[in-house]
Amino acid sequence: MNQRGNPGIDWIAGAGVREVKLILEEIAEEIRKKLGCKAKSREPMWRHTSFRIGGPAELYIEPRDEEELVKLLAYLREKGIPYLVMGNGTNLLVSDAGIEGAVVHLGDGFKEIRIDGSIIRAGAAAPLIRVAREAAGAGLSGLEFAGGIPGSLGGALYMNAGAHGGDISKVASRARVIHRESGRIEELASGALEFGYRSSLLRKRGYVALGAELVLARGGPEEIRARMDGYAKKRRATQPQGAPNAGSIFRNPPGQAAGRLIEEAGAKGMAVGGAEVSRVHANFIVNRGQATACDVLKLIERMQALVEERYGVKLEPEIEFVGRPC
Ligand SMILES: Cc1cc2nc3c(=O)[nH]c(=O)nc-3n(C[C@H](O)[C@H](O)[C@H](O)COP(=O)(O)OP(=O)(O)OC[C@H]3O[C@@H](n4cnc5c(N)ncnc54)[C@H](O)[C@@H]3O)c2cc1C
Repeated sequence: MNQRGNPGIDWIAGAGVREVKLILEEIAEEIRKKLGCKAKSREPMWRHTSFRIGGPAELYIEPRDEEELVKLLAYLREKGIPYLVMGNGTNLLVSDAGIEGAVVHLGDGFKEIRIDGSIIRAGAAAPLIRVAREAAGAGLSGLEFAGGIPGSLGGALYMNAGAHGGDISKVASRARVIHRESGRIEELASGALEFGYRSSLLRKRGYVALGAELVLARGGPEEIRARMDGYAKKRRATQPQGAPNAGSIFRNPPGQAAGRLIEEAGAKGMAVGGAEVSRVHANFIVNRGQATACDVLKLIERMQALVEERYGVKLEPEIEFVGRPC
Protein backbone atom coordinates (compact mmCIF):
# COMPACT_ATOMS: atom_id res chain seq x y z
CA MET A 1 0.00 0.00 0.00
CA ASN A 2 1.24 3.44 -0.76
CA GLN A 3 1.29 6.38 1.57
CA ARG A 4 -2.10 8.14 1.51
CA GLY A 5 -2.24 10.87 -1.12
CA ASN A 6 0.86 9.56 -2.80
CA PRO A 7 0.38 8.89 -6.48
CA GLY A 8 3.04 6.17 -6.19
CA ILE A 9 5.64 7.81 -8.37
CA ASP A 10 9.17 6.76 -7.62
CA TRP A 11 10.36 10.33 -7.44
CA ILE A 12 14.06 9.50 -7.57
CA ALA A 13 13.67 6.58 -9.92
CA GLY A 14 16.76 5.04 -11.39
CA ALA A 15 19.21 6.03 -8.62
CA GLY A 16 21.25 3.40 -6.71
CA VAL A 17 21.11 3.03 -2.90
CA ARG A 18 24.22 5.14 -2.26
CA GLU A 19 23.07 7.83 -4.68
CA VAL A 20 19.62 7.93 -3.09
CA LYS A 21 21.19 8.52 0.35
CA LEU A 22 23.23 11.39 -1.03
CA ILE A 23 20.30 12.94 -2.89
CA LEU A 24 18.14 12.76 0.25
CA GLU A 25 20.83 14.38 2.40
CA GLU A 26 21.23 17.14 -0.21
CA ILE A 27 17.49 17.81 -0.17
CA ALA A 28 17.48 17.88 3.66
CA GLU A 29 20.38 20.34 3.57
CA GLU A 30 18.57 22.54 1.04
CA ILE A 31 15.42 22.54 3.22
CA ARG A 32 17.46 23.51 6.30
CA LYS A 33 19.29 26.31 4.45
CA LYS A 34 16.54 27.72 2.21
CA LEU A 35 13.46 27.23 4.36
CA GLY A 36 14.95 27.26 7.88
CA CYS A 37 13.10 24.05 8.91
CA LYS A 38 14.76 21.29 10.91
CA ALA A 39 15.24 18.44 8.43
CA LYS A 40 16.84 14.98 8.51
CA SER A 41 17.21 12.30 5.88
CA ARG A 42 16.41 8.61 6.51
CA GLU A 43 14.98 9.15 9.99
CA PRO A 44 13.83 5.89 11.69
CA MET A 45 10.11 6.19 12.35
CA TRP A 46 10.06 3.78 15.30
CA ARG A 47 11.45 6.71 17.26
CA HIS A 48 8.30 8.72 16.55
CA THR A 49 5.46 6.22 16.91
CA SER A 50 3.76 4.95 20.07
CA PHE A 51 4.01 1.40 18.62
CA ARG A 52 7.82 1.83 18.46
CA ILE A 53 7.67 0.32 14.96
CA GLY A 54 8.65 1.72 11.56
CA GLY A 55 11.46 2.00 9.03
CA PRO A 56 13.02 5.26 7.84
CA ALA A 57 11.15 8.21 6.40
CA GLU A 58 13.21 9.44 3.44
CA LEU A 59 12.88 12.96 4.86
CA TYR A 60 11.73 14.01 8.32
CA ILE A 61 11.01 17.72 8.47
CA GLU A 62 9.91 19.98 11.30
CA PRO A 63 8.62 23.43 10.34
CA ARG A 64 8.68 25.70 13.40
CA ASP A 65 5.66 27.82 12.53
CA GLU A 66 2.98 28.52 9.95
CA GLU A 67 5.25 30.61 7.74
CA GLU A 68 7.84 27.82 7.50
CA LEU A 69 5.11 25.24 6.90
CA VAL A 70 3.55 27.20 4.03
CA LYS A 71 6.96 27.54 2.34
CA LEU A 72 7.77 23.89 2.98
CA LEU A 73 4.53 22.55 1.48
CA ALA A 74 5.03 24.77 -1.60
CA TYR A 75 8.58 23.39 -1.92
CA LEU A 76 7.43 19.77 -1.60
CA ARG A 77 4.66 20.33 -4.16
CA GLU A 78 7.08 21.96 -6.60
CA LYS A 79 9.57 19.09 -6.27
CA GLY A 80 6.83 16.44 -6.49
CA ILE A 81 7.81 15.01 -3.10
CA PRO A 82 4.87 13.21 -1.44
CA TYR A 83 4.37 13.95 2.23
CA LEU A 84 2.53 12.76 5.31
CA VAL A 85 1.76 15.17 8.14
CA MET A 86 2.26 13.40 11.42
CA GLY A 87 1.11 14.34 14.90
CA ASN A 88 2.25 12.25 17.87
CA GLY A 89 2.28 9.00 15.88
CA THR A 90 -0.21 7.33 18.23
CA ASN A 91 -2.59 6.01 15.59
CA LEU A 92 -0.06 4.92 13.00
CA LEU A 93 1.52 1.66 11.92
CA VAL A 94 4.55 2.58 9.84
CA SER A 95 5.92 0.06 7.34
CA ASP A 96 9.20 -1.70 8.14
CA ALA A 97 10.31 -0.58 4.67
CA GLY A 98 9.81 3.04 5.67
CA ILE A 99 8.01 5.97 4.09
CA GLU A 100 8.58 7.32 0.62
CA GLY A 101 8.95 11.10 0.55
CA ALA A 102 8.63 13.34 3.57
CA VAL A 103 7.12 13.10 7.01
CA VAL A 104 6.19 16.60 8.18
CA HIS A 105 6.03 16.98 11.95
CA LEU A 106 4.68 20.32 13.17
CA GLY A 107 7.17 22.03 15.48
CA ASP A 108 7.04 24.12 18.67
CA GLY A 109 5.24 27.11 17.12
CA PHE A 110 2.17 24.88 16.74
CA LYS A 111 2.06 23.89 20.42
CA GLU A 112 0.68 27.07 21.92
CA ILE A 113 -2.47 26.86 24.06
CA ARG A 114 -4.35 30.09 24.89
CA ILE A 115 -7.39 30.39 27.11
CA ASP A 116 -9.77 33.28 26.67
CA GLY A 117 -12.87 33.00 28.86
CA SER A 118 -14.42 29.65 27.97
CA ILE A 119 -12.64 29.44 24.61
CA ILE A 120 -9.36 27.61 24.06
CA ARG A 121 -7.27 28.35 20.99
CA ALA A 122 -4.50 25.83 20.43
CA GLY A 123 -2.03 24.84 17.75
CA ALA A 124 -2.34 21.52 15.94
CA ALA A 125 0.79 20.09 17.60
CA ALA A 126 -0.47 20.80 21.13
CA PRO A 127 -0.76 17.47 22.99
CA LEU A 128 -4.45 16.75 23.57
CA ILE A 129 -3.72 15.61 27.13
CA ARG A 130 -2.12 18.98 27.89
CA VAL A 131 -5.07 20.88 26.36
CA ALA A 132 -7.45 18.80 28.52
CA ARG A 133 -5.41 19.44 31.68
CA GLU A 134 -5.18 23.18 31.05
CA ALA A 135 -8.93 23.28 30.46
CA ALA A 136 -9.51 21.47 33.76
CA GLY A 137 -7.14 23.86 35.55
CA ALA A 138 -9.13 26.82 34.23
CA GLY A 139 -12.44 25.28 35.37
CA LEU A 140 -13.54 24.48 31.82
CA SER A 141 -15.57 21.35 31.13
CA GLY A 142 -15.97 19.39 27.87
CA LEU A 143 -12.50 17.92 27.36
CA GLU A 144 -12.47 15.45 30.26
CA PHE A 145 -12.79 12.58 27.75
CA ALA A 146 -9.43 13.59 26.22
CA GLY A 147 -7.30 13.33 29.37
CA GLY A 148 -5.97 9.89 28.32
CA ILE A 149 -5.71 10.29 24.53
CA PRO A 150 -2.01 10.64 23.72
CA GLY A 151 -2.36 12.28 20.27
CA SER A 152 -1.99 15.88 19.16
CA LEU A 153 -4.89 18.27 18.62
CA GLY A 154 -4.32 17.99 14.82
CA GLY A 155 -4.52 14.19 14.96
CA ALA A 156 -7.65 14.47 17.11
CA LEU A 157 -9.33 16.77 14.56
CA TYR A 158 -8.38 14.43 11.72
CA MET A 159 -9.69 11.34 13.57
CA ASN A 160 -12.46 13.02 15.55
CA ALA A 161 -10.83 11.34 18.53
CA GLY A 162 -13.13 10.45 21.35
CA ALA A 163 -13.74 8.36 24.46
CA HIS A 164 -16.20 7.98 27.35
CA GLY A 165 -19.07 9.30 25.21
CA GLY A 166 -17.27 12.50 24.18
CA ASP A 167 -15.32 13.44 21.07
CA ILE A 168 -13.57 16.47 19.62
CA SER A 169 -16.54 17.33 17.36
CA LYS A 170 -18.53 18.30 20.47
CA VAL A 171 -16.11 21.08 21.42
CA ALA A 172 -14.36 22.18 18.20
CA SER A 173 -16.01 25.35 16.92
CA ARG A 174 -13.46 26.20 14.22
CA ALA A 175 -10.30 24.81 12.67
CA ARG A 176 -7.60 26.52 10.69
CA VAL A 177 -6.50 24.33 7.79
CA ILE A 178 -4.24 24.42 4.78
CA HIS A 179 -5.32 22.87 1.48
CA ARG A 180 -2.90 20.30 0.12
CA GLU A 181 -3.06 21.19 -3.56
CA SER A 182 -3.35 24.99 -3.50
CA GLY A 183 -1.62 25.78 -0.20
CA ARG A 184 -4.61 28.02 0.62
CA ILE A 185 -5.27 28.65 4.31
CA GLU A 186 -8.88 28.63 5.45
CA GLU A 187 -10.82 28.88 8.71
CA LEU A 188 -13.59 26.29 8.78
CA ALA A 189 -16.54 26.40 11.17
CA SER A 190 -17.45 23.13 12.90
CA GLY A 191 -20.42 22.51 10.56
CA ALA A 192 -18.04 22.44 7.60
CA LEU A 193 -15.65 19.99 9.28
CA GLU A 194 -17.95 17.03 8.52
CA PHE A 195 -17.18 15.16 11.73
CA GLY A 196 -18.30 11.54 11.89
CA TYR A 197 -17.24 8.44 13.81
CA ARG A 198 -13.43 8.65 13.79
CA SER A 199 -13.50 10.80 10.66
CA SER A 200 -13.65 14.40 9.52
CA LEU A 201 -13.24 16.57 6.45
CA LEU A 202 -9.49 16.60 7.14
CA ARG A 203 -9.42 12.87 6.73
CA LYS A 204 -11.61 12.92 3.60
CA ARG A 205 -9.69 15.72 1.86
CA GLY A 206 -6.21 15.44 3.35
CA TYR A 207 -6.28 19.05 4.64
CA VAL A 208 -3.57 19.88 7.15
CA ALA A 209 -4.80 21.26 10.48
CA LEU A 210 -2.87 24.25 11.83
CA GLY A 211 -4.92 24.83 14.95
CA ALA A 212 -8.41 25.01 16.35
CA GLU A 213 -10.78 26.88 18.58
CA LEU A 214 -12.59 24.85 21.25
CA VAL A 215 -15.65 26.12 23.07
CA LEU A 216 -16.06 24.72 26.58
CA ALA A 217 -18.48 25.15 29.44
CA ARG A 218 -17.74 26.61 32.86
CA GLY A 219 -17.60 23.96 35.58
CA GLY A 220 -16.21 23.30 39.02
CA PRO A 221 -12.46 22.45 38.80
CA GLU A 222 -12.89 19.77 41.51
CA GLU A 223 -15.67 17.99 39.62
CA ILE A 224 -13.82 18.22 36.32
CA ARG A 225 -10.67 16.75 37.90
CA ALA A 226 -12.72 14.01 39.58
CA ARG A 227 -14.25 13.04 36.23
CA MET A 228 -10.81 12.96 34.59
CA ASP A 229 -9.38 10.89 37.45
CA GLY A 230 -12.30 8.45 37.11
CA TYR A 231 -11.65 8.03 33.38
CA ALA A 232 -7.89 7.59 33.99
CA LYS A 233 -8.58 4.92 36.61
CA LYS A 234 -10.88 3.09 34.19
CA ARG A 235 -8.18 3.19 31.47
CA ARG A 236 -5.55 1.82 33.85
CA ALA A 237 -7.87 -1.04 34.79
CA THR A 238 -9.02 -1.94 31.26
CA GLN A 239 -6.16 -1.09 28.89
CA PRO A 240 -2.61 -2.44 28.62
CA GLN A 241 -0.02 -0.37 30.49
CA GLY A 242 3.66 -0.11 29.66
CA ALA A 243 3.95 -2.10 26.40
CA PRO A 244 4.04 0.05 23.23
CA ASN A 245 0.72 0.11 21.35
CA ALA A 246 -1.41 2.35 19.14
CA GLY A 247 -4.69 2.32 21.04
CA SER A 248 -7.70 0.55 19.53
CA ILE A 249 -6.79 -1.44 16.44
CA PHE A 250 -10.32 -1.72 15.00
CA ARG A 251 -13.28 0.61 14.75
CA ASN A 252 -16.35 -0.56 16.63
CA PRO A 253 -18.87 -2.05 14.18
CA PRO A 254 -22.30 -0.38 14.51
CA GLY A 255 -23.86 -1.32 17.86
CA GLN A 256 -21.00 -3.64 18.86
CA ALA A 257 -17.66 -3.45 20.62
CA ALA A 258 -14.75 -4.73 18.52
CA GLY A 259 -12.87 -5.75 21.69
CA ARG A 260 -15.69 -8.01 22.88
CA LEU A 261 -16.03 -9.73 19.49
CA ILE A 262 -12.26 -10.38 19.39
CA GLU A 263 -12.20 -11.63 22.98
CA GLU A 264 -15.18 -13.94 22.44
CA ALA A 265 -13.57 -15.26 19.26
CA GLY A 266 -10.71 -16.42 21.52
CA ALA A 267 -7.97 -14.14 20.19
CA LYS A 268 -6.60 -12.72 23.47
CA GLY A 269 -2.90 -13.58 23.76
CA MET A 270 -2.68 -14.66 20.08
CA ALA A 271 0.70 -13.59 18.69
CA VAL A 272 2.69 -13.21 15.48
CA GLY A 273 6.41 -12.59 16.03
CA GLY A 274 6.70 -9.75 18.54
CA ALA A 275 3.08 -8.59 18.19
CA GLU A 276 0.47 -9.89 20.62
CA VAL A 277 -3.26 -9.34 21.12
CA SER A 278 -3.34 -7.74 24.55
CA ARG A 279 -4.48 -10.03 27.35
CA VAL A 280 -5.96 -6.97 29.07
CA HIS A 281 -8.01 -5.54 26.17
CA ALA A 282 -8.55 -7.59 23.01
CA ASN A 283 -8.82 -4.53 20.73
CA PHE A 284 -5.21 -3.59 21.51
CA ILE A 285 -2.09 -5.13 19.97
CA VAL A 286 1.05 -4.72 22.05
CA ASN A 287 4.62 -4.71 20.83
CA ARG A 288 6.43 -7.24 23.03
CA GLY A 289 9.75 -5.65 22.10
CA GLN A 290 10.78 -6.68 18.62
CA ALA A 291 7.50 -6.52 16.69
CA THR A 292 7.64 -5.52 13.03
CA ALA A 293 4.87 -3.84 11.05
CA CYS A 294 4.51 -7.12 9.12
CA ASP A 295 3.91 -9.00 12.40
CA VAL A 296 1.17 -6.52 13.30
CA LEU A 297 -0.44 -6.72 9.84
CA LYS A 298 -0.47 -10.53 9.90
CA LEU A 299 -1.97 -10.51 13.38
CA ILE A 300 -4.64 -8.02 12.25
CA GLU A 301 -5.57 -10.37 9.37
CA ARG A 302 -5.85 -13.31 11.77
CA MET A 303 -8.05 -11.34 14.16
CA GLN A 304 -10.27 -10.26 11.25
CA ALA A 305 -10.52 -13.84 9.95
CA LEU A 306 -11.46 -15.21 13.40
CA VAL A 307 -14.17 -12.62 14.00
CA GLU A 308 -15.56 -12.92 10.45
CA GLU A 309 -15.70 -16.70 10.67
CA ARG A 310 -17.48 -16.61 14.02
CA TYR A 311 -19.78 -13.58 13.68
CA GLY A 312 -19.80 -12.72 9.96
CA VAL A 313 -18.51 -9.23 10.84
CA LYS A 314 -15.54 -7.74 8.94
CA LEU A 315 -13.61 -5.56 11.38
CA GLU A 316 -12.19 -2.36 9.87
CA PRO A 317 -8.87 -1.03 11.19
CA GLU A 318 -8.94 2.24 13.11
CA ILE A 319 -5.15 2.59 13.01
CA GLU A 320 -3.61 3.72 9.71
CA PHE A 321 -0.92 1.78 7.92
CA VAL A 322 1.48 4.14 6.16
CA GLY A 323 4.54 3.66 4.02
CA ARG A 324 5.83 1.16 1.51
CA PRO A 325 4.11 -2.23 1.32
CA CYS A 326 5.68 -4.92 3.55
C1 LIG B 1 -2.60 4.28 24.61
C2 LIG B 1 -3.48 4.90 23.54
C3 LIG B 1 -4.79 5.22 23.84
C4 LIG B 1 -5.61 5.78 22.86
N1 LIG B 1 -6.90 6.08 23.18
C5 LIG B 1 -7.70 6.65 22.26
C6 LIG B 1 -9.04 6.99 22.58
O1 LIG B 1 -9.52 6.79 23.68
N2 LIG B 1 -9.81 7.57 21.60
C7 LIG B 1 -9.32 7.82 20.35
O2 LIG B 1 -10.06 8.36 19.51
N3 LIG B 1 -8.05 7.50 20.03
C8 LIG B 1 -7.23 6.93 20.94
N4 LIG B 1 -5.93 6.62 20.61
C9 LIG B 1 -5.46 6.82 19.22
C10 LIG B 1 -4.82 8.19 18.94
O3 LIG B 1 -4.26 8.76 20.10
C11 LIG B 1 -5.82 9.15 18.30
O4 LIG B 1 -6.33 8.62 17.10
C12 LIG B 1 -5.19 10.53 18.03
O5 LIG B 1 -6.21 11.41 17.58
C13 LIG B 1 -4.08 10.46 16.97
O6 LIG B 1 -3.37 11.69 17.05
P1 LIG B 1 -1.83 11.78 16.64
O7 LIG B 1 -1.40 13.19 16.80
O8 LIG B 1 -1.02 10.78 17.35
O9 LIG B 1 -1.93 11.41 15.10
P2 LIG B 1 -0.93 10.51 14.25
O10 LIG B 1 -1.00 9.10 14.73
O11 LIG B 1 0.39 11.16 14.16
O12 LIG B 1 -1.64 10.58 12.83
C14 LIG B 1 -2.91 9.99 12.63
C15 LIG B 1 -3.52 10.61 11.37
O13 LIG B 1 -3.79 11.99 11.64
C16 LIG B 1 -3.21 12.79 10.64
N5 LIG B 1 -2.77 14.04 11.24
C17 LIG B 1 -2.00 14.22 12.35
N6 LIG B 1 -1.81 15.54 12.56
C18 LIG B 1 -2.46 16.19 11.57
C19 LIG B 1 -2.62 17.57 11.24
N7 LIG B 1 -2.07 18.55 11.94
N8 LIG B 1 -3.37 17.86 10.15
C20 LIG B 1 -3.94 16.89 9.39
N9 LIG B 1 -3.80 15.57 9.65
C21 LIG B 1 -3.08 15.24 10.73
C22 LIG B 1 -2.02 12.00 10.11
O14 LIG B 1 -1.69 12.38 8.79
C23 LIG B 1 -2.57 10.58 10.17
O15 LIG B 1 -3.30 10.31 9.00
C24 LIG B 1 -5.09 6.05 21.57
C25 LIG B 1 -3.76 5.73 21.28
C26 LIG B 1 -2.95 5.17 22.26
C27 LIG B 1 -1.53 4.86 21.94
